[in-house]
Amino acid sequence: MIIVMKAGAAKKEKDEVLKRIRELGYKPHVIHGTTRDVIGAVGDERGKLVLQSIESMHGVESVVPILKPYKLASKEVKREPSLIRISENVSIGGREIVVMAGPCSVENEKQIVETAIAVRDAGARVLRGGAYKPRTSPYSFQGLEEEGLRLLDKARRESGLPIATEVVNPETAELVAEYADILQIGARNSQNFALLKKVGQLKKPVLLKRGMSMTIQEFLMSAEYVMSEGNQAVILCERGIRTFETATRNTLDLSAIPVLKEQTHLPVIADPSHGTGNHRYVAPMAFAAVAGGADGLMIEVHPDPEHASSDGPQSLRPDKFAAMMVRLRMIAESVERSI
Ligand code: PEP
Ligand code: MN
Repeated sequence: MIIVMKAGAAKKEKDEVLKRIRELGYKPHVIHGTTRDVIGAVGDERGKLVLQSIESMHGVESVVPILKPYKLASKEVKREPSLIRISENVSIGGREIVVMAGPCSVENEKQIVETAIAVRDAGARVLRGGAYKPRTSPYSFQGLEEEGLRLLDKARRESGLPIATEVVNPETAELVAEYADILQIGARNSQNFALLKKVGQLKKPVLLKRGMSMTIQEFLMSAEYVMSEGNQAVILCERGIRTFETATRNTLDLSAIPVLKEQTHLPVIADPSHGTGNHRYVAPMAFAAVAGGADGLMIEVHPDPEHASSDGPQSLRPDKFAAMMVRLRMIAESVERSI
């Protein structure tokens, strides 16, 4: 249910409403709007009608049911787009298109620091790099783990870019959160509900990738898992789904961008690297995603893709990334965005 407070309702009135929601066995989430606050009361669907009684409380304008199965992620609860703060000077969800770039895996200090500086100079705002890698094969490189996190920290200090890195299990989530500015949940873990709940309890933005066989509704339900634990800072990432097509690694579902933008207030980005699996197709799909309304991009960049420990074939060399950014800027301007 959504409890819409009157414009100018007193703090005391709001506190009473929050108290009442808890007494009724629901969890309140306050969403600050431009003119008034609304409170999402989430919990067991079956007894929700008891919340209707809140309508008679002081300061309450109305109590309305949320029709969508995802609640906190839905535009019913919050109409205006969410601006998510990543660091002191980087936020996503506003006019600026935020490009996150870097290698698939952190391999060594030189690789990550050089890449960080190169992508920053080309206009990237976030450095990406995996320290824990969820690989399809147990025999593939699994990442440098904590050493990788330390190298990311070094690259952040050298470049000034905030870092996005993947969390693969609840046990290491807190450790990763000590280093990361953005906690990435990979496609293979996007319905790992224990992990989603865990990052929902941490105080860092979450970059949630779409699972390879997930519907858009299931994707939003995964976001809801994170949000219902108290973490509203969720960025959604379309990274390609599995279809019958084999010419590309995945099928980048660009139509998910406008659909998601219609359904949710959360920022939406696209990952054309995993979406295509081929460096030649990355730039065209990046252009298309921005033209289609994406709030950002995630792009794999490696100084020596032939020798990359993972995802070399889909990684751009720094010079190709810089060339892509030049054209991307023009496309962003044509849709009234900036880079
Ligand atoms: C990655 O970002 O390197 C990654 C593993 O992506 P995905 O989870 O989308 O496959
Ligand atoms: Mn990768």
